Amino acid sequence: MKEWDVVCIVCPKGCRMKVTEENNDMKVSGNQCKRGLTYGVKEVTNPTRVITSTVKVNHPIHRRMPVVTKGAVPKGMMLDVMKEINLIELELPIMVGDMIIGDVLGTGINIVASRTIK
Ligand code: SF4
Repeated sequence: MKEWDVVCIVCPKGCRMKVTEENNDMKVSGNQCKRGLTYGVKEVTNPTRVITSTVKVNHPIHRRMPVVTKGAVPKGMMLDVMKEINLIELELPIMVGDMIIGDVLGTGINIVASRTIK
């Protein structure tokens, strides 16, 4: 039997859960709702994360633009995605939702602006 301790990050309660696998049967305990069940299984089989960061802006006052992935990327690719984000330099204006990087590293996930700066 395999066993993992997982903290659910879906809501601020942060339930401490135990995920077990035996004969291809996965069980989650310690979760207070169904979202934790889904999160616990996903976290040990295919962990992903939404990334929020900032991108350099070529402007004397506004130096950084906040950006976010429009979906979750594989956890193991987070550092590579951050490297891609750090290569970008934007010119204003940028509107909230504008695409900054499309299909980052072939993940199918876009990175978009999370603020408008005119
Ligand atoms: S299991 Fe449910 S209640 Fe607990 S942290 Fe996750 S989402 Fe929140």
